[in-house]
Amino acid sequence: MSSQTFLAALTGSFSTPCADNPTVAMIEAAYRHHDMNARYINCDVKADGLADAIRGAVAMGWAGFNCSIPHKIAVLAHLDTLAESAAIIGAVNCVVIRDGKLTGENTDGKGFLDSLSGVTDPKGKDFCLLGAGGAARAIAVELALAGARRLTIVNRDAARGRDIAALINDRTAAEAMFLPWTERFAIPRDVDVLINATSVGLGDAQAMPDIDPDSLRHGMIVADVIPNPPRTALLRAAEARGCTTLDGLGMLVNQGVISVRLWFGQDVDATIMARQLQDIFGVARA
Ligand code: NDP
Repeated sequence: MSSQTFLAALTGSFSTPCADNPTVAMIEAAYRHHDMNARYINCDVKADGLADAIRGAVAMGWAGFNCSIPHKIAVLAHLDTLAESAAIIGAVNCVVIRDGKLTGENTDGKGFLDSLSGVTDPKGKDFCLLGAGGAARAIAVELALAGARRLTIVNRDAARGRDIAALINDRTAAEAMFLPWTERFAIPRDVDVLINATSVGLGDAQAMPDIDPDSLRHGMIVADVIPNPPRTALLRAAEARGCTTLDGLGMLVNQGVISVRLWFGQDVDATIMARQLQDIFGVARA
């Protein structure tokens, strides 16, 4: 009898549109590097096809899947359990299927935390978040659960900003406040870490969130969620003022590492994934 197997473990992504989502290339690079007999399939799943897609994944014995727009909230109705942060965030982007049971996780904020942990411990620190969309919400919740002292949420749309501040105050031990995004917003002096969690800078290396660059203090940590281009105008301005910077490409790679760990219990090499994304985005390798 041959010990060979021709049956791969299956994972993938459900979203739409998805033709420009490079996650498949990033994750399959890690599978190949580690000689894992697994595949990641990028699936264009429309809103009304989500239930069938999930039933199909369970029927085919998938290990799990990522989900993105428009399924991050709709998927909740199909899950058996939710991880702590996903339950507070109210959105899921990674599902683990084990013995036919589905568990929802949210890796957006965890990917950010992993990047941050390379430069500081969030415990007791003051954070300023620009933006109040899905990425900001996930990052705010993970920071709060990791022991952040205070979160200042700054957003154009006040209702969305207030909503995240209330969520943090109601559901975690951290303290949060909302500040309206006034012109040339000055980052408060006591902030240890500034995070751009808006979409400003996506696909545009010159686009800069409307902040006063002189309020970026030497020694402050400045992070950007934008994965492409990773060296955003904000991060360049922060570097010029002696800040420590973290880019969104690293956060995206960390999410890939976390997903594979959740599905297979295996830690894959982040640099393999980062190189693959850098090649796809056409940026110089770090
Ligand atoms: P959402 O659409 O949910 O939120 C977008 C946010 O950006 C809102 O707060 C919006 O403000 C703000 N915004 C947009 N344009 C401007 C502007 N010109 N000035 C100020 N604020 C602005 O998106 P997500 O939260 O899902 O994603 C945000 C970004 O994060 C995206 O670019 C995405 O690519 C990136 N991302 C990166 C990840 C990574 O791993 N690196 C993971 C997830 C997301 P308002 O509410 O006032 O409209």
